[in-house]
Amino acid sequence: MSIETDARKPDAGETGASGDIQTICVVGAGLMGQQIALLAAISGFEVYCADTSTEALRKAEDFVAAWLPKQKAKGRVTDAQIALATDNLHFINDLDFGAKNADMAIEAAVEELGVKRAIFAQLDRIAPPHAILATNSSYLVSSKIADATSRPDKVLNMHFFNPALIMKTVEVVQGPHVSDETVEKVMAVSRALGKIPAKVNKEIYGFLCNRIFSVITKEACYMLDQGIASVEDIDNAVKGALGHPMGPLELLDMTGIDLEYRLGMERYRETGNLADKPSPSLVERYARGDYGRKTGKGFYDYEV
Ligand code: NAD
Repeated sequence: MSIETDARKPDAGETGASGDIQTICVVGAGLMGQQIALLAAISGFEVYCADTSTEALRKAEDFVAAWLPKQKAKGRVTDAQIALATDNLHFINDLDFGAKNADMAIEAAVEELGVKRAIFAQLDRIAPPHAILATNSSYLVSSKIADATSRPDKVLNMHFFNPALIMKTVEVVQGPHVSDETVEKVMAVSRALGKIPAKVNKEIYGFLCNRIFSVITKEACYMLDQGIASVEDIDNAVKGALGHPMGPLELLDMTGIDLEYRLGMERYRETGNLADKPSPSLVERYARGDYGRKTGKGFYDYEV
């Protein structure tokens, strides 16, 4: 693990865990990218994780340095996996360097179409012709990105969930341009990362899980708006009767009311459908700056 600024040639690793995919370039070292990169490294892939921000790279390195011993103390990672992370994980500020020998890239940069299209065009120029180019985007389907490359059959959504080191599901989405071979390889990589991939046969806004989550949260907010039940009773009922580990309102506090508000407004602007507008309980909290855990107040109060 090191932030590498020089142009040392990456060597393909011997320990890759999924057929002809040995070396993975992760683009973005933020919340998701750092976890995907670490997961891939401890799963035996050679990993180059590139970010344009030196601060993000340093934070990612600090995250890895703190996470490994904590998990070892809990018996969740082995010494062998720590050795793999030490040898195989490279944080770098030069995407070209990370992409030039990659068999696959997983892009986890900011959720902006223009940024993602530019990254994919760059990956397409630099990565070997066989390399698969995946995006971890939550809402941008790969058909909006694939035509920035000369290999649309190898460009797809591979959607992890936060925390990516822990959550078992990865959604692998086959847009109309994606080949069966690409999907099969990404399903295999997902399994090699210890995940249970869900194959999504068609591109659809929000894929599987975010669509289902959005129905539940919309209904929870509707019942709250109508005074049908309190925040606590809604969450407790969902946990107690439906077996969810967290209630929908607690979960919104965790993922961020600001994010939910912005996604709702963006969707509404796209569809013009009033049902896509954020509910009053979200709008009120957004307007007050009560975004959830990160601000100390959302549906619940928190110590910050
Ligand atoms: P983040 O803001 O924590 O990290 C994004 C990183 O991308 C930043 O470190 C930024 O410096 C870097 N970046 C920006 N432009 C870049 C470029 N041109 N090249 C390289 N790096 C660049 O964001 P995040 O929460 O990790 O989300 C990343 C992606 O993952 C988004 O597409 C998001 O939709 C998706 N996603 C997020 C979550 C989540 O819970 N946060 C879950 C699943 C998927």
